[in-house]
Amino acid sequence: MPQAIIPSGVVSVAYIGATILFILALGGLSHPESARRGNLFGMIGMALALFATIFGVVTDNFTLLIVMLVVGGAVGLQLARRVQMTQMPELVAILHSLVGLAAVFVGFASFTDPNVHFTGVEKTIHDIEIYIGILIGAITFSGSVIAFGKLSGKISGNPMLLPARHWMNLGLLLVTIWVGGQFVGQSAAGGGMAMLLIMTVLALLFGIHMVMAIGGADMPVVVSMLNSYSGWAASATGFMLSNDLLIVTGALVGSSGAILSYIMCRAMNRNFFSVIAGGFGTTSGSSTGDGEDQGEVIAIDAAETAELLKDAKEVMIIPGYGMAVAQAQHIVHEITRKLRDKGINVRFGIHPVAGRMPGHMNVLLAEAKLPYDIVFEMDEINDDFPKVDVSIVIGANDIVNPSALTDPNSPIAGMPVLECWKGGTTIVLKRGMATGYAGVQNPLFFLDNTRMLFGDARDSLDNVLSNL
Ligand code: NDP
Repeated sequence: MPQAIIPSGVVSVAYIGATILFILALGGLSHPESARRGNLFGMIGMALALFATIFGVVTDNFTLLIVMLVVGGAVGLQLARRVQMTQMPELVAILHSLVGLAAVFVGFASFTDPNVHFTGVEKTIHDIEIYIGILIGAITFSGSVIAFGKLSGKISGNPMLLPARHWMNLGLLLVTIWVGGQFVGQSAAGGGMAMLLIMTVLALLFGIHMVMAIGGADMPVVVSMLNSYSGWAASATGFMLSNDLLIVTGALVGSSGAILSYIMCRAMNRNFFSVIAGGFGTTSGSSTGDGEDQGEVIAIDAAETAELLKDAKEVMIIPGYGMAVAQAQHIVHEITRKLRDKGINVRFGIHPVAGRMPGHMNVLLAEAKLPYDIVFEMDEINDDFPKVDVSIVIGANDIVNPSALTDPNSPIAGMPVLECWKGGTTIVLKRGMATGYAGVQNPLFFLDNTRMLFGDARDSLDNVLSNL
């Protein structure tokens, strides 16, 4: 058997170092100010882990390994260079799918590896690891591909609800457990491949069905949940390969994704299991508000907007997905600076699910170098709206929709929203009267104290700035 280039003791130390760096990375990512440092820790940790694995664990086939690393690295680099900020959520989803696919491949490779000779209990445990690894990997893979389709608009955001879907899910779960038992039994006798393939197909179908059943507004939970699954898939791969670092790293990703899912559910006032079971956003009739006469909207132009802002003492800026589309964050910073120079108190109200990925708005505002001390979470400022003179809603829709609080039939019913209508005047910047991601009409636009500034958010804000 060929020897690795560096001894196993050095590998263990490198793995411990990488684990510590990954923990520091997660810690750093918890705040925009330390996020850059956190990313750096993560990159160094990953480089260390790759180095230790390539030279301390791998013993053969170096040429193939290096070629694949170069190809994979080059593709990743190109993707990262080309991707627009607005495409980040779907990129994240498709990257999760690759982790799932890797777990499936490693599972099959591990099962068919002629060099693995386990017997008795050890074999049973190894088989269970393989089974669970492929199961989680396949669900992550197909679920993430569907999430990619939904986030990129290639698949409709509406929930696909099959009749008796809960029974179907339960049936799939029971069949999967039964097939697992058969697999372990047959594997002990030298077979099992057919059972493994059957389970893989079932898991792929389950992943598709699970994400297809989730309505647009609940997608944030799905994104964070698939993040968590990809971590557990990596962890399961670590068990299959007896690689401690992969187990720990996977568990870190898995548990942080689970915590994020919990935070998202709390932010949206949803029960995690109800979201996963699907069915939110399924109510019919008036809930979308389509076709209902909601009254007239009152339009405003950039000069009037500038006047209102100049006369205000308290201004709240509420960014949403449209700000990301328009790439308006830099001009928002300019306007903020100008208003603050005039002694106006400008604050930002960030909804936890604004945009298309967790922390989307914070990333944009940090990119535009806005001071962090004027950026507030929804919970911190929602009670302050009665004291706000002017709120500017920049390309946001669902996160400022009052029907979430007033219409129990709305697909977003129960979700806390930024209650800007309680302030003096709300100015909404958007291009037309299109609905947001959840597909619901927004009564905010028709209120007496709301003004609509139509047009691309960046163009509109450019005009406002020149009028200031
Ligand atoms: P919404 O999708 O509700 O609304 C965005 C609005 O921006 C649209 O109504 C659109 O109207 C407007 N818009 C688009 N482009 C521009 C532009 N260039 N200039 C001006 N306006 C523009 O976004 P929100 O941020 O309010 O809400 C997020 C939604 O996405 C929620 O439903 C959330 O659940 C969901 N989601 C969130 C995820 C997350 O992790 N944060 C993940 C997946 C989904 P118009 O076309 O008329 O201009």
